[in-house]
Amino acid sequence: MNGQGHQKFAISLMEHLVVPTFVIDADGRVMIWNKACERLTGVSAADMVGGRDHWRAFYDAPRPCLADLVLGQRYSEIQKLYESRGPFGFSDFGVSAENWCVMPRLGHRLYLAIDAGPIYDEAGKLTAVIETLRDITVQHTAQLELESLAARDGLTGLANRRVFDAKLIEAKLRCVKEQKPLGLLMIDIDFFKGYNDAYGHQRGDECLRLVAEAIASCLRGPNDLAARYGGEEFALILPGASPHVVGGAAERIREAVESLAIPHRGSGASKCVTASVGAAVASGAAEAESLVNAADAALYQAKRAGRNRVRLTTPAHEAA
Ligand code: GH3
Ligand code: MG
Ligand code: MG
Repeated sequence: MNGQGHQKFAISLMEHLVVPTFVIDADGRVMIWNKACERLTGVSAADMVGGRDHWRAFYDAPRPCLADLVLGQRYSEIQKLYESRGPFGFSDFGVSAENWCVMPRLGHRLYLAIDAGPIYDEAGKLTAVIETLRDITVQHTAQLELESLAARDGLTGLANRRVFDAKLIEAKLRCVKEQKPLGLLMIDIDFFKGYNDAYGHQRGDECLRLVAEAIASCLRGPNDLAARYGGEEFALILPGASPHVVGGAAERIREAVESLAIPHRGSGASKCVTASVGAAVASGAAEAESLVNAADAALYQAKRAGRNRVRLTTPAHEAA
């Protein structure tokens, strides 16, 4: 094979490579758009080669592709433009990233693993960038589902205790930084042991599901979080909520549970299922744990005062 033959073979190799691949030259124009890339994107090489609008195959608004960022050495833009960056950072060998692409021509989204690597000539000059793509939508969706399953309580679908603990610390740090208050509600169903005794454990489970749904329907703030704290106890994190707002949310939840009107013949507080709510608001740098303790103490007071009621408190050392 002579030199020209080698070059033809190399191009043909890339054209028929099973990995979706395209190449842009030093001016950012598409040189090669292989057959696998045509299949992946639904866009033909004839539409792409010679042009600079390869973004059209992946996105519905103009933006750089990973190859363009490598060509312009605009590595700092990768973080804001991609869901995730590859584990290897940036190097002369190129970069890796992952992204949801809207794929306008196909009409459905794909989650792509993308690698872009520079091609240098013998003098070390950047002459082209090669981008390869892998459709990992199925794996990524399964991963997201697993993560979501691991974060939720199996019975009620609310966030579980592990997520609650993590989110409370996160919310605490954010509220201290932004000098905003942080509200917390602890909600406990009244005489729930009596409910199980009267109606059986399965009906008890069904009741827990309904109460959880009622609690979740009371969320208002974009960063509010409802969790199953354990057993028949629920917790609500209300970042940025003033004592007034926290008290309002607590009363709304108490009413929402009562409004379910689930008959409860084993209750000493009402003819139907009710809940007591302990509310606390932290305004300073107190530990997340002391906020939980304060809400717990308020809950205990609500129980002592007759149940089916709300008590609001602020941590003792913050009250001054
Ligand atoms: P109080 O008004 O003081 O809160 O009384 P209580 O009976 O609700 O309190 P206690 O803590 O004594 O009982 C809680 C009961 O909740 C005991 C347990 O059987 C029941 N429970 C906890 N988790 C579940 C669950 O997942 N399903 C069902 N059906 N019951 C549960
Ligand atoms: Mg309890
Ligand atoms: Mg209870």
